[in-house]
Formats: sequence, structure tokens, C-alpha cells
Amino acid sequence: MRISQLLRAMAPIVKTFDYLVIGGGSGGLASARRAAEFGVNAAVIEEARWGGTCVNVGCVPKKIMFNTAMHAEFIHNHKEYGFDVDLKGFSWGKVKDARDAYIKRLNGIYESNLEKSKVEKIIGHATFTEDGCVEVNGEKLSAKHILIATGGRPVLPSIPGGEHAITSDGFFDLKDLPKKVVVVGAGYIAVELAGIFNALGSDTSICIRYDHVLRTFDSMISEKLTAELERSGMKVCRRTQVTKATKEADGTLTLDLNTGDQIKGVDCLLWAIGRVPNSNTIGLEKVGIETDSKGNIVVDKFQNTSVANHYALGDVCGRALLTPVAIAAGRKLAHRLFDNKSDWKLDYDNIPTVVFSHPPIGTVGLTQEEAEKKYGADKIKIYGSTFVPMYYAMTENKVRCSMKLVCLKPEEKVIGLHMLGQGCDEMLQGFSVAIKMGATKAQFDETVAIHPTSSEELVTMR
Ligand code: FAD
Ligand code: NDP
Repeated sequence: MRISQLLRAMAPIVKTFDYLVIGGGSGGLASARRAAEFGVNAAVIEEARWGGTCVNVGCVPKKIMFNTAMHAEFIHNHKEYGFDVDLKGFSWGKVKDARDAYIKRLNGIYESNLEKSKVEKIIGHATFTEDGCVEVNGEKLSAKHILIATGGRPVLPSIPGGEHAITSDGFFDLKDLPKKVVVVGAGYIAVELAGIFNALGSDTSICIRYDHVLRTFDSMISEKLTAELERSGMKVCRRTQVTKATKEADGTLTLDLNTGDQIKGVDCLLWAIGRVPNSNTIGLEKVGIETDSKGNIVVDKFQNTSVANHYALGDVCGRALLTPVAIAAGRKLAHRLFDNKSDWKLDYDNIPTVVFSHPPIGTVGLTQEEAEKKYGADKIKIYGSTFVPMYYAMTENKVRCSMKLVCLKPEEKVIGLHMLGQGCDEMLQGFSVAIKMGATKAQFDETVAIHPTSSEELVTMR
């Protein structure tokens, strides 16, 4: 042991808790507050803003910008619905200020909720010490149970001139709507943010490595969304990678591409190629907590790490990076540890997810490709429908809706539902209850349709 390590190990423990949570984001806050309901002496350590990624640079401000973009889309159709309005006068700055104020209010609500729950708040960067304690602000804390819920961060560009790019974090700092945007990436964040820029009027390109966006989704979704992005005016640059960014005298960027082409006059280069876990700055190696090759903390189905009484959940584990997943895993863990629910754990099957693209996507269960691989193509029956929602009956611009049910023979249990179209974001939650309960296609059909809606298609497919 080195002298510094020895001194740290010898330092007195300032405070002891039943439950010490590192990370005041979706998972950490939910778990600590639920634990406190059982009379547990709990504390949360947060180094930045209360609420974590979702509240500050994720779901919440993103959804506000999605809603802003939806206004722009509706305004385009207002004329056909008899209104005389256009996009003139849109102020990104006004929305940003209101959004920032809302987030600030939420930070305060999250903080006061901790106080109401009697969870101790600690501000600072937490690291493990060699003797299994946690050090923050030079003080040593110990606990019977320690939860790591430190989330993740965006992958940064590693190209020459990469410092000129922003990530999704920087998106929320933009003071104005950029005129010309290039988004690199093909996942959730790339399509969501590119869609917002495009709907609000930026000249938007998306550079993808292959032929379609969202390649891990059902092929119907992946293909139709890519086509829809192009139909809506976005430039989809297939098999294209940005290899260099050069800042010009006028402040714009010139981008070199692997195809030999260049994109000039770019105001905003946004990098969205995935996220990495916040696991390399907490001293996991000092306590021997195992990570995988990507740095994700390895946990079993009960969120146990490789070290007793140390748990991890949410984005830092690299599986289903979604706020409700982190929250649900955190609450289940609190019940297991402090409420005698010894077998409680989150079931990671059939997690519904929505992509707030334009139009939005809702999906739950297996894709057709996954189902055919798992059960064999002859065991799978597919039902599909593509139609123009009634909203567009009045408009020249028609955005189609596509839906697919993946069913397992012989009883035709619905094991996958994939849809893309206006309103699909709000349609999914209820249908995912049915799928979680094991509903069959016949039970979908027995449900009387609601007319006129798009969701009625899901119970009338033949
Ligand atoms: P986080 O919420 O990231 O919280 C981790 C916290 O730990 C952070 O506050 C961090 O500051 C703190 N921390 C890290 N290290 C330390 C340390 N050593 N000491 C003290 N504190 C530390 N999910 C959805 O379900 N729906 C969406 O629409 C959605 N949109 C998204 C949009 C974007 C742009 C992004 C980036 C993500 C989005 N997500 C969405 C994903 C969602 O935000 C995450 O899955 C969720 O926040 C993960 O929660 P978590 O508790 O694991 O981590
Ligand atoms: P994703 O994992 O969704 O997508 C990243 C994609 O970028 C990959 O699938 C890959 O697609 C592409 N990519 C990877 N490496 C490169 C590279 N070197 N160059 C170019 N493209 C590359 O990551 P995101 O960052 O978009 O989002 C992270 C997670 O956050 C999501 O998985 C999701 O769980 C969560 N999230 C959820 C949202 C929601 O619920 N609505 C919204 C936003 C985020 P390909 O292989 O095709 O190139």
C-alpha cells in the first residue's frame, strides 16, 4: 500500500449510513427516496445538478424541444385547417430561457423532495477508498449498502477538429437555431435532435455509417424512418463519416468526409454516436468492482456488483439506457434491501421505448428479425398496416403511419409491436401492458376499436 493509500485508509470515518447512493439522477434519487420510506438512514452524493441526465440534458429539455418542433410542424398545416399563421417570429432564445427556468425549478423540486424524504444531500465528487468507504470533499463516509448510479456521458469525437463539435449536452446550450447543421450518428439522439433542427428550419444533414438510421430497431421502423427523414427535407448521407472539421475565418466549419466530399458553411456539428458509463473516475478498482470491456459495471439480475453490499443500476450498467428503467431498478432494489422483498428485481423483458423522431416511434418486445432468429421464421406471423392518419386528410403533406405486430404461433401471442407515426409515442404505454400480460392477437381483435384514431389499427389488423 502506498503512503497516500495508507493515510486514506487510516483517516477517520466522518459519518455512517445505512444506504449511500452515488449519483443524484433518475435511478439514485428514486432508490434513496424509496429506501427512506422504510426508515433507512440514506444519503445521496451528487457532483452536478439534481435530477441527473434526464432532467438537465436529456428527456425533459429534449421533450420541450420536440414539442417546439411539433408546433412548427402543425403551423405548416394550420393554413389547411383554416388558420393564417407562419413560422415568422420564432425565437429559439425565448424557448431556451423558459426551458432553462423550468429545469431550474425542477432541480429545486428534486432537492426539496430529498429534504421531505429525509435523505441527506451531499454535493461533491465521490470516489471509493481502498477500505471500501466513499470519500467526498476530503471526508470519509461508510455505509452498510452502497449504490452506484453515476450514469453516463456522450462519446466525444476523435477526429482532427473534433473540439469544434458539440454533443447532446451542448445542444442544450445553443443560444440560437443554427442555420446549417450536420448530425453524426444513427441512434436515438441523432434522429431526435436532427428532427428538431429540421422541423424548426435548419438546413440539416445526418451522416450515418450504413444505409439506415436506428439499425437495431425492427427493419420496418429503420427503413421507414430513414425514408421519412428524407421526405421531410433532411439530407441523409449514407455510408458517410466526418473525418475532419476545420474552422474557417467566418466561424463556420468545413467538414471533410470519408467519401472525399466536403460539407461547407456548417454552423453546428453535433456528435451523437453513443454514450459511455461514468465508471472510470470513481475508483472502482480500489474495491475490486468488475466492469466489462466498455466500462459498464457488471451486475446480476438483482443489481448486485461483484463486491458484496455494493450495487449498480441505470446507465452505468449499459443496459436499456432509459429513465424509467433506472427508476424502476432503483425502487425494486430499495424494496429488496430494506423492505424484506428478497426476490424483487426489475424484469428487463418487454421494456417499451419511444423515439421522439418526426414522426415518433413506439416499440416493445422482439423485432421481427429477433423473433425469427429466436423461434424460427415458420413460428412467426406478422401483421402490418401502413395508412395515412385522418389528421392528414386535410393536408397536402401526408406523413404515413406504419404498424407491425410480431406474433408467435400457434396461439399468436403478440411478442413484438412496432409503430411509427403521429401519436405513436402516446399509444404505446397501454399496449405494452397487454403485451406484458401475454395478450394474443385474438385478444387484440376482441377489443372494440376507438374511432377515429390511429390506434384502432392495432386492434383491427388482418
Ligand atoms: P443519470 O441520470 O445520468 O444520473 C447520474 C448522476 O450521477 C449525474 O447527475 C452525475 O452528475 C452523477 N455523478 C456521476 N459520477 C459521480 C460521482 N463520482 N460523484 C457524484 N455524482 C456523480 N430516457 C428516456 O427514458 N426517455 C427519453 O426521452 C430520454 N431522452 C434522452 C435524451 C438525451 C439527449 C439523453 C442524453 C438521454 C435521454 N434518455 C432518455 C436517457 C436517460 O436520460 C437516462 O437513461 C437516465 O438519465 C439514466 O439515469 P441514471 O440514474 O442511470 O443516470
Ligand atoms: P445509440 O446507442 O442509440 O446510437 C448510437 C448509434 O451511433 C449507434 O447505433 C451507431 O449506429 C452509431 N455509431 C456508433 N459509432 C459510430 C461512429 N464511430 N460513427 C458514426 N456513427 C456511429 O446512442 P445515443 O447516443 O443516440 O443514445 C444513447 C442512449 O440514450 C440510447 O441508446 C437510449 O437508450 C437513450 N436515449 C433514449 C431516448 C428516448 O428514450 N427517447 C432519447 C435519447 C437517448 P450504426 O451502427 O448504424 O452506425
